[in-house]
Amino acid sequence: MMDSAAESLNFIEEIIENDLKTGKYKQIVTRFPPEPNGYLHIGHASSICLNFGLTKKFPGYTNLRFDDTNPSTEETEYVDSIKEDIQWLGFEWKNELYASDYFSQLYDFAVSLIKKGLAYVDDSTSEEIAKQKGTPTSTGTNSIYRDRTIEKNLDLFSRMKNGEFPDGSKTLRAKIDMAHTNMLMRDPILYRIKKAHHHRTSDTWCIYPMYDFAHGQSDSIEHITHSICTMEFIPHREFYDWAIEKLEIYPSQQYEFARRNVNYTITSKRKLLQLVQEKHVESWDDPRMPTISGMRRRGYPPAAIRNFCDRIGIGKRENIVDIGLLEFFVREELNKSAARVMAVLDPIQLTITNYPDGSSENLSIENNPEDEAGGHREVPFSNKLWIEREDFKEEMEKKWFRLAPGAMVRLKGAYIIKCTDFKKNDQGELSEIICEYIPESKSGSDVSGIHVKGTIHWVSQIHAASAEIRLYDRLFKVENPAAEEGDFLEYINSHSLQIISKAYIEPSLSIAQLGQTFQFIRKGYFVLDRNSCSDKLIFNRTVTLKDNWAKVQGK
Ligand code: ATP
Ligand code: MG
Repeated sequence: MMDSAAESLNFIEEIIENDLKTGKYKQIVTRFPPEPNGYLHIGHASSICLNFGLTKKFPGYTNLRFDDTNPSTEETEYVDSIKEDIQWLGFEWKNELYASDYFSQLYDFAVSLIKKGLAYVDDSTSEEIAKQKGTPTSTGTNSIYRDRTIEKNLDLFSRMKNGEFPDGSKTLRAKIDMAHTNMLMRDPILYRIKKAHHHRTSDTWCIYPMYDFAHGQSDSIEHITHSICTMEFIPHREFYDWAIEKLEIYPSQQYEFARRNVNYTITSKRKLLQLVQEKHVESWDDPRMPTISGMRRRGYPPAAIRNFCDRIGIGKRENIVDIGLLEFFVREELNKSAARVMAVLDPIQLTITNYPDGSSENLSIENNPEDEAGGHREVPFSNKLWIEREDFKEEMEKKWFRLAPGAMVRLKGAYIIKCTDFKKNDQGELSEIICEYIPESKSGSDVSGIHVKGTIHWVSQIHAASAEIRLYDRLFKVENPAAEEGDFLEYINSHSLQIISKAYIEPSLSIAQLGQTFQFIRKGYFVLDRNSCSDKLIFNRTVTLKDNWAKVQGK
């Protein structure tokens, strides 16, 4: 049993299992460390499922830590959305923490490095510092301020903190080695002056630690055992370890895994922000966005996102995952849970001539054949219905099992009907389909002996409610817009939103709840949108029943 469990472990789980076995740790502590400068996206979901998943599997806990060391891009709106998204995904953090809570501790850490002769205040401009860095193939040069005395450095650093110097005039740098093979070890900047308002510490500070002098130190303060980040931080690991060693603080360890991206979309907060700001989408939670809030509004169940992240797993090679796989998990969840209902998106009138005008009956229809506890609902039937225009052809064709003159179909949950005629308006457009029904063919008590191949959905005209329906498609026309030549905005799919302003829906849907997902039979899965109100119902299409994108693309 142990063996088969071990086989399914990913490489980080293997490391952890070993660390627990050897007694290196009794429990593990992980963290999810978002920078609150945007909404979380599907890539973050992968990191969330990994970090929180590890402490579900192994003893320990996960912190939520906001990496809020950059005052100019961070906002409380983002903090709130991040918390909501993690909870919605189904995870609980042990502590809600902020790197900014550690500002005075980080300041003390910097002072202790100065005292050890391991940091100095540099008056070089950013251009000069860049020049001093050298290149990967040539060594750098020392700053002329590198050999300032410890006393001088302590004095200047405290005056930086007191706001005596303008932005950009001084930095605090680690004193390591300007000839180091790792460029990030060539006297990296630890602190910069930035007289900016911070979303939590307000104007208390005018110097802010750089990411590299905040992240590892925050991990250490929280006694994070396994600090998991993405591959681009591999070169940062050396400084991460250096600082922990020199500061003699808790030895957190960094591990890297490859970013997970999804095709036909973008997973960069900066670019997603641009889509919002330039109004290419309605908002961060536009249902076309790859954000967690967008997927929630689109009707994706959290379990589908978790299953998707588990399936794609983690690895060391960056890859782009097919969005079709995510949609597969969405369908899998919704198939189990969504009530089947009827909605007509492109309505045409159908009249049953032998059903008494003005009378109606309630038919009892099963909500979800996949769910025994799903129950039944009443759906009113009458002689005037709406059906889909595409379910009718003016002339019978081979293998056409829907309506055409002389053809018979079953109306879902109701009767078999036979088309006797159709009408056109003055413009020559189809305006009405005329049918007769077979009274003995009622669903559940059919004694007609007639077998038909097609079943179509319908709603009763006098009972129907109307709704706006929003159909979504890929946000981008190409698989990897970020990798294309030129601006990624050029690759936006201009047909990604189609609005049907008036569809007819069965009356049971008029009391749909926000976030409730339905299968509109034969049409896909739909969810009530947050902008819906009793005067105007709005449904978003979550996903079609089957993938027809590949077909459209001619693949
Ligand atoms: P972005 O480039 O979108 O701004 P980021 O890495 O700067 O992403 P953070 O807020 O720093 O965003 O990310 C929080 C955590 O999520 C980090 O540990 C980061 O490595 C991880 N993460 C971000 N994007 C992905 C992704 N595409 N796949 C896996 N993990 C990711
Ligand atoms: Mg980041």
